[in-house]
Amino acid sequence: MRCVIVGAGVSGLLAARALEGAGWETVVLDKGRGVGGRMATRRMADGVFDHGAQFFTARSEEFKKLVEEWTDAGAATEWSRGFADADAEREPDGHPRYRGSSGMTSIPKHLADGLDVRTGERAVHVLRSGSEWEVRCESGLSERGDALLLTAPVPQSLALVGGIVPTYRREDLRRISYDPCVALMALLDGAADLPEPGGFQIKGEPLDWISDNHRKGISESPALTIHAGPRWSREHFGDPDEEVSAALLEHAEEALGRNVASHVIGTSVARWRYSWVTNNHTERFFVGVDSPPLVFAGDAFGEPKVEGASLSGLAAAEWIARRGG
Ligand SMILES: Cc1cc2nc3c(=O)[nH]c(=O)nc-3n(C[C@H](O)[C@H](O)[C@H](O)COP(=O)(O)OP(=O)(O)OC[C@H]3O[C@@H](n4cnc5c(N)ncnc54)[C@H](O)[C@@H]3O)c2cc1C
Repeated sequence: MRCVIVGAGVSGLLAARALEGAGWETVVLDKGRGVGGRMATRRMADGVFDHGAQFFTARSEEFKKLVEEWTDAGAATEWSRGFADADAEREPDGHPRYRGSSGMTSIPKHLADGLDVRTGERAVHVLRSGSEWEVRCESGLSERGDALLLTAPVPQSLALVGGIVPTYRREDLRRISYDPCVALMALLDGAADLPEPGGFQIKGEPLDWISDNHRKGISESPALTIHAGPRWSREHFGDPDEEVSAALLEHAEEALGRNVASHVIGTSVARWRYSWVTNNHTERFFVGVDSPPLVFAGDAFGEPKVEGASLSGLAAAEWIARRGG
């Protein structure tokens, strides 16, 4: 049995590993240059930036076990037990916050080891041919499988298979929504002086989060990640990079109460159209077509965030393995 998986984020990679463990063959297609999706790390000179997910928590026993595996393998490590808030007060609450050992992508890179993952492959068309699914990529690559698992943010998955999923099922998926997030990466020539442990959780507008990736332990040089809040991100999503950089640095100075802009030696902007799930589907995965199976998974199903995406991928794989082609 063979399953084609679209998306090499944490949900798709965990699903592939689980299916391989159940005796299936898998191929994972991702349009990105590397694996990880929203668990994203980027380098700029001596600076290393996590610019998507910043950290994750583990609430369920199932996920705690996975995190222990990642930690034992050297892919993940504990970062802190709480962050400074908007008044620079630290709020340790006892819950470990984890990060990738060299950045968030350490985890998906570890998960992808030994899997057939094709990066730089954008799926553009899905066809049913007999008892199989066929996924065609922009490059001309075509992959066939007895089952198809879609783990991209749901609007992107629907763009691929909208016409195939029955209308009444599509309605459930159309209700799923996400907030955007505009992220600024700023390389500094001096210390950022963020309060320990280097993450500043504002949870508001215009900024949601500021972190220093040096203090976080993944970057040689001081390197700030600044996340705008959802309203600011929506209003300024299409603004030119220079305007986004100037505005977010000014907001960061206000939040930190000190000069930052004069220490900036390089910037880069990332735009996440789908960052956090605002309206989810309560089940851990969604069956779009029963036979041959076409299944949706990812952080929009069940619980959100890295933990939810992981549990969703695993639950979808278990269902596909039990169901067969
Ligand atoms: C700015 C930001 C901050 C966040 N902060 C946190 C945090 O602090 N803690 C936390 O737990 N979570 C956080 N999250 C959320 C977390 O990153 C996600 O919930 C989780 O990584 C989702 O994993 P996934 O596998 O469901 O989806 P994704 O990681 O999005 O993976 C889907 C993959 O599908 C690929 N894809 C899409 N369309 C196609 C196509 N047509 N063909 C081929 N491939 C395609 C994409 O390239 C992507 O790699 C944050 C997210 C963002 C963006």
